[in-house]
Amino acid sequence: MKNTEQVITKTEQFGAQNYHPLPIVISQADGVWVTDPEGNRFMDMLSAYSAVNQGHRHPKIIAALKDQADKVTLTSRAFHNDQLGDFYEKVSALTKKDMVLPMNTGAEAVETAVKAVRRWAYDVKGVAENQAEIICCEGNFHGRTMTAVSMSSDADYQRGFGPMLPGIKLIPYGDLDALKEAITPNTAAFILEPIQGEAGIIIPAEGFLKDALALCRENNVLFVADEIQSGLGRSGKMFACDWEDVVPDMYILGKALGGGVMPISCVAANRDVLGVFNPGSHGSTFGGNPLACAVSVASVDVLVEEDLAGRSLKLGEYFLKELKSINNPMITEVRGKGLFIGVELNQPARAFCEKLKEEGLLCKETHENVIRFAPPLIISEEDLNWAIERIKKVLSV
Ligand code: PLP
Repeated sequence: MKNTEQVITKTEQFGAQNYHPLPIVISQADGVWVTDPEGNRFMDMLSAYSAVNQGHRHPKIIAALKDQADKVTLTSRAFHNDQLGDFYEKVSALTKKDMVLPMNTGAEAVETAVKAVRRWAYDVKGVAENQAEIICCEGNFHGRTMTAVSMSSDADYQRGFGPMLPGIKLIPYGDLDALKEAITPNTAAFILEPIQGEAGIIIPAEGFLKDALALCRENNVLFVADEIQSGLGRSGKMFACDWEDVVPDMYILGKALGGGVMPISCVAANRDVLGVFNPGSHGSTFGGNPLACAVSVASVDVLVEEDLAGRSLKLGEYFLKELKSINNPMITEVRGKGLFIGVELNQPARAFCEKLKEEGLLCKETHENVIRFAPPLIISEEDLNWAIERIKKVLSV
């Protein structure tokens, strides 16, 4: 078996350098724990950016994977497969939306949402051809495709990739007046993360989601929630929009929809919006494949049956309280909802992530100064206390 150094050397030799991972190789994983080739165990406090909410290799999800792998894995959408309908039904019940459109990655689901709201603007709202506008928020993260980076306010995400997609307007996150000002008769949609994950777990002021939804309704603008990271139990509710009892016109889902086992994403909306697609207008060879659908049905079942949102809420409150009790002037803010927590420092967080790694905890800084704590939602109280003890050791003065 290759050791850590050999693996990293080979990976860096042949791979494009579009990531800067911590120097650790994961060769096995189970629940909240991962192991390197030398047999060292670490607790996963990132959950693959919240794609592993159900924990690594959840037995029920792996059983669904193996069972389906023995039957059929890919048909393309040229033919029906016998898993897609069950997946639709499951997501429809979860989101209470009439229709679902499956893709593979989060960014593809964002692309789908942008196409849907633009076509809705032309075909339903009556916006003049090529005039549709979409309002996004500064600090957003919607992925890395050209559409998603065109929506970004981060110059680093766009540098060297222009020209960007036109028709995008940015407003400060959580600013209702700015939203009011940005809306025109050509506005198709307001697309936002109800909690900004990559920006450093940024939570809008209470009432913003509700007021923004009302404003969108008044102006015949679609309210689209990118819940790829914040959804599926992560924030202590099934969807982060649930914190304000907000039901968006469209959900964008991904990550934990595949239980950390298969990439699968989707958008869910009612027929008046998703009905704008006709055969040939959108698609993906792997989108809706039976293997991912079977895995996703099991992944959603695990979320619901194990009440992972409730677990996230309860353990998150405790975790947040413990983190807030750490006395260190370097910590400028501790914030979060559920097991979706950011600790902001007055200095780069990477060195602390490296120290935490030495203690057996895997975290990743986001936006330089923020340490994100987002363990799998199945984490036990005992394991969480184990983590808290080590975090206190590294962050206390
Ligand atoms: N949208 C949000 C809110 C995300 O957090 C992410 C990924 O971090 C994406 C979209 C992109 O998802 P993917 O990396 O699967 O394309």
